[in-house]
Amino acid sequence: MEDKFMMYNTLSKRVEKFVPNEAGKVGMYTCGPTVYHFAHIGNLRSYLMEDILEKTLRYIGYDVKRVMNITDVGHLSSDADTGEDKMVKGAKREHKTVMEIAQFYTDAFFSDCKKLNIKRPDVVEPATNCIPEFIHMIEELLKKGYAYQSGENIYFDTSKLKEYYVLSGHNEDALLEGVRDDVDVDDNKKNKNDFVLWFTKSKFEDQALKWDSPWGVGYPGWHIECSCISMKHLGDYMDIHCGGVDNIFPHHTNEIAQSEAYLGHKWVNYWMHVHHLNDKSGKMSKSKGEFLTVSLLEEKGYNPIVYRLFCLQSHYRKPLEFSYEVLDQMVATYDKLKKRIANLKKDGEVDQAAFAQFRSAFEAALCNDLNSSLAITVIYDLLKADISDATKYALIGSFDYVLGLDLTKEEEAQENAVDSELEAFILAKIEERKEAKKAKDFAKADAIRAELLDKGVSIKDTREGVVWELI
Ligand code: AMP
Ligand code: ZN
Repeated sequence: MEDKFMMYNTLSKRVEKFVPNEAGKVGMYTCGPTVYHFAHIGNLRSYLMEDILEKTLRYIGYDVKRVMNITDVGHLSSDADTGEDKMVKGAKREHKTVMEIAQFYTDAFFSDCKKLNIKRPDVVEPATNCIPEFIHMIEELLKKGYAYQSGENIYFDTSKLKEYYVLSGHNEDALLEGVRDDVDVDDNKKNKNDFVLWFTKSKFEDQALKWDSPWGVGYPGWHIECSCISMKHLGDYMDIHCGGVDNIFPHHTNEIAQSEAYLGHKWVNYWMHVHHLNDKSGKMSKSKGEFLTVSLLEEKGYNPIVYRLFCLQSHYRKPLEFSYEVLDQMVATYDKLKKRIANLKKDGEVDQAAFAQFRSAFEAALCNDLNSSLAITVIYDLLKADISDATKYALIGSFDYVLGLDLTKEEEAQENAVDSELEAFILAKIEERKEAKKAKDFAKADAIRAELLDKGVSIKDTREGVVWELI
């Protein structure tokens, strides 16, 4: 197959043609949620756009294997290794164990994803499943001289790399601003940006989950999990690694540092980062303002799919500001679009040439660095076009594989409604036939049987009563 997908690569800082390591196949990794609380709709913007990426690649013919971790240990309040483990914080807040919290919020996350038509990745792996893999990578990094032990923790030595800032392209001080919730200098670090690979000594003695390791009982740092989990399932060369922009530094920067030090070669070819969803006061977070979740939107009467449309109408590389006013406009846009689609007569012949022409316009929009709003305008263009309703309907059904907007779903619901109407009709006719037979009006009974047969329904008299089936 021809490679035609163009994407912005954070590594090269330009839009490039995507060429996978192995022709026709894509290995893709997504940083998964830290399961200490519900995902807010900002987090879900990232997962939603990554879902569009995965489905676009599949739609244009790639065989995609997508892997995601679940962070259930090691992610501290600050991404720069300070503060309390977020999971422990969550467990304390709810008076539950860390594993109970992890299970509950993992299920809640996938339930939100389902409501937003976000496909579950092919492999989902919790960090706590992979402790031996983490220990192995840390041992190798120590052997190769990229890691050191200090104050009973194991750190990665960032001074050993020539290109530590290759992904972010910023200077050290600029990057450190904003990533720390609380600036808390760790004197055990040799360099400011060194990061923890394994904690055995934490100022929080109540760390819930701990494991034996060659360096004593402890727990892994956050960054190591994504390197190990992705390599475990995708091998030593990865095509695309995704996340939100806040992951660029320090998380992804550290992932590259330790992975390439461990492997001895380039690890990921393309990095895709989704920009933030903001509220009026800035970046959406779990600790400030109204905690916007999918359930909250539902409670307020919104169909979650309208939020999906809201995200698709803007480009993933631009910040997006959330407001209920714009969401309300989306409700109106969505309802109108669905009505136009519901009014299409779907029976009839599909014009193959027109189908190919619009499909190629749709693919071109998505292949242009996931221009999802342009892809949606293709639907409006085709609705206006002079082609058969059946062709329009088939195209929209096909596009919805990627868009996930349930554009033809109402139709299915209507079909089901017709089914239940048909069922009511059948039951009424069976009743009428029973009465006719009781009154020995066999001609009428036979006429009813024939009428049902005409509608594709066959009936049979059994000892338990009349049974029917569609033929
Ligand atoms: P977390 O559960 O905190 O590890 O975050 C899960 C994902 O959501 C990560 O890929 C983050 O980069 C992303 N993320 C966090 N905040 C936002 C936001 N306001 N808008 C979009 N993505 C976000
Ligand atoms: Zn990650």
